[in-house]
Amino acid sequence: MEYDKKLYLLFNDYSIGYIKSICDCTSCKIRGEAEFFIHTINGKYKDCVKFNEINSFFEDEVLTVAESLEEIIIWIKEFIINKKDNEIKFIKEINILLHNSLIK
Ligand SMILES: [Zn+2]
Repeated sequence: MEYDKKLYLLFNDYSIGYIKSICDCTSCKIRGEAEFFIHTINGKYKDCVKFNEINSFFEDEVLTVAESLEEIIIWIKEFIINKKDNEIKFIKEINILLHNSLIK
């Protein structure tokens, strides 16, 4: 079954993928548990995640989920800006520490 609304995933390594389809084959039906097929942004197969594994998969491997690539890009931009802000704070603190130790 094709997943009609595309859900994009940003992975820990900053690669992007999406949920291609939800499997409803006979073995899934017998097991009573569907599988999610995850493809890379280039349309290549990446992973297959069972329904009961989806929570740990998202926790361990996915940074964020979005309904469009624009949302993913906004997320990355904010992530980089936050990172930069933290680096600037860190550098300022180091400077204060250095300054204080020089005065002593
Ligand atoms: Zn299946």
